[in-house]
Amino acid sequence: GSGVEWDKETLLEKDRQYLWHHITPHNPNPMIGVSGEGSWLTDIDGNRYFDGMSGLWCVNVGHGREEIAQAAAEQMKTLAYFPPYHSHVPGIRLAEKVNEWLEGGYRIFFSNSGSDANEVAFKIARQYHHQNGEPTRFKFISRHRAYHGNSMGALGATGQANRKTKYEPLGTGFQHIAPPYCYRCPFGQKEGDCRMQCAEAYEDVINWEGAETVAAVIMEPVITGGGVIVPPENYMKRVREICDKYGVLMIVDEVICGFGRSGQRFGHQNFGVRPDIVTMAKGITSAYSPLSATAVREDMYEVFKKGGDSHFRHVNTFGGNPASCAVALKNIEILEREQLVERSASLGESLRGKLEALKDHPLVGDIRTFGLIAGIELVEDKQSKAPAAPDKLAHVISECKKRGLLIGKNGDTVPGFNNVLTLSPPFVTTEEELDFIVLTLGEALAGLLVPAEGA
Ligand code: PMP
Repeated sequence: GSGVEWDKETLLEKDRQYLWHHITPHNPNPMIGVSGEGSWLTDIDGNRYFDGMSGLWCVNVGHGREEIAQAAAEQMKTLAYFPPYHSHVPGIRLAEKVNEWLEGGYRIFFSNSGSDANEVAFKIARQYHHQNGEPTRFKFISRHRAYHGNSMGALGATGQANRKTKYEPLGTGFQHIAPPYCYRCPFGQKEGDCRMQCAEAYEDVINWEGAETVAAVIMEPVITGGGVIVPPENYMKRVREICDKYGVLMIVDEVICGFGRSGQRFGHQNFGVRPDIVTMAKGITSAYSPLSATAVREDMYEVFKKGGDSHFRHVNTFGGNPASCAVALKNIEILEREQLVERSASLGESLRGKLEALKDHPLVGDIRTFGLIAGIELVEDKQSKAPAAPDKLAHVISECKKRGLLIGKNGDTVPGFNNVLTLSPPFVTTEEELDFIVLTLGEALAGLLVPAEGA
């Protein structure tokens, strides 16, 4: 059963009276979801929708996994909670498993959300330098367009004005540099004739800030929520080299890209770099339970275990609780058993090919993919590249919804630039469902074409 005891009108009334929605705060008519199976969701009216975004980029193994529910129930019955300064079986097993997925060499700190995991990364990076005798290294370099979370430090790292300006002052010490955005190169270069100034810029910023003041850079392998910005192939490697040259740590935010979304276990593995710190959340449990982790290079951990005052002063009550860890272990077991990371890679390749069908549409400026993520940048016209007006995106999204497909758009980045449609379907999606996505998008986009005068 759906567990719905009230009729829809009563529910909506109470929703309007009591609930404060995220993102769409004054939506008087929210969708009320009641169940999910595989890549499909059902609302209270019995309408079925293909979940083209896996929720908020997170339900990677698909909805309605009975065995995850069972793992949670069993763990909750056995030991639902244990304080995080002690240990428990699922926590130990999960730390080992995450380290294995990272190809070894990391120490794992658990929290509850992606924002938490990034805050932990910032604090660890600063304390690490402090205890290494470099207490002036406190700054972080992140990128415009990036989103790293909703708390004051993570918002400081975020490079999207619209999410920040009413909440300042945020956590301080965050510098932002231009993203590796080839379609609108911030350095005016042309694709194929590029000296990767987006990567070289790190060296400039580090020098101008003073290397002795810089703690770390933070980046996603690709900027996901900020518009699916896929960097040149050697970008991360070059940033890694610059970090090494100046003693700056590299934090990689794998909150979306991690756990198979990129077609590899972690996004950075596509680019052949080893980060010093990796943060992860959503995909670690496929959103069946809140959990996140901050993985830190094993040799960095050494400076925190010298005793006395050297420990990391950070407690998170629910972080890495036994039930969430049991859920994560089952989720990862499913990813391995059903070879879903490989499937994500092959579906991603397939989706990339199918999306070619949309590229001649006059309003499609650029199509970018990375693993099983796609971004379709809409413009007013291909020559000027003027970003498409928000009502055009709203039109496509609502036409898709009418046809049973939920898609997303990039976060509230910069005024006028919320013009990228996003896709991130579950890894259990079928080829036929990919066809449905592309066909439906095509129909929705066709509705944007105004017939010529007299036609
Ligand atoms: N980092 C990235 C890249 C994200 O996309 C998000 C959430 N969308 C976060 C961090 C924050 O995660 P959470 O919402 O779990 O705090």
